[in-house]
Amino acid sequence: MNDTEKNLARYLEMEGILNDFFRVFNFCFDQCIKPEIEKNGNQPVAACCKNKYYMLYDLDHPAFDRLKQEREIRYGKPEDHHWPDPVSPCEYHSPVTGCVLATHKSPICLAFMCRESIDFLRKTYSIFAYDYLGVNYALEWILTGDFSHSQFNEFKDSIRDMIKKVESNPCPVKACDNRA
Ligand code: SF4
Ligand code: SF4
Repeated sequence: MNDTEKNLARYLEMEGILNDFFRVFNFCFDQCIKPEIEKNGNQPVAACCKNKYYMLYDLDHPAFDRLKQEREIRYGKPEDHHWPDPVSPCEYHSPVTGCVLATHKSPICLAFMCRESIDFLRKTYSIFAYDYLGVNYALEWILTGDFSHSQFNEFKDSIRDMIKKVESNPCPVKACDNRA
């Protein structure tokens, strides 16, 4: 396996851990998307996916080309997606199910948490460590190979600690009872 493939494998490993975190945290759907849909007369919403973030901040680097190549093998090219009533300029955003990219998201799509969700994380779980731009840069460096092995392990441990903290503190907000 060459370095680009090793870095991509580490990126995808980190993406899996972050996805586990977002799954247990479960803020976006219950606290944001569902209420927005209700306010919008049960019509779909784009929430924060209001641009083509899958490519907007891509670095001019072969690692980003490789991520995009694997994404398109699995999920198709952006222009392959056509929605009858799109609500977002991002072609990967399904009005019904949201982002079609279960994996191979860009660093910014993967890292992003809005102010409200970060505040909720702080107030509800006393987790102050999530800095979305910092996570974005860390993901970029993992992809380009500029993150050391020890930094990578520390990053994984920090997100796993957050998962444990969320799992061990029942959320006081009723909607969170439904979390997977
Ligand atoms: S990150 Fe914020 S704006 Fe985006 S879906 Fe989640 S709660 Fe909503
Ligand atoms: S790729 Fe997915 S997460 Fe990124 S902007 Fe599009 S729908 Fe949102």
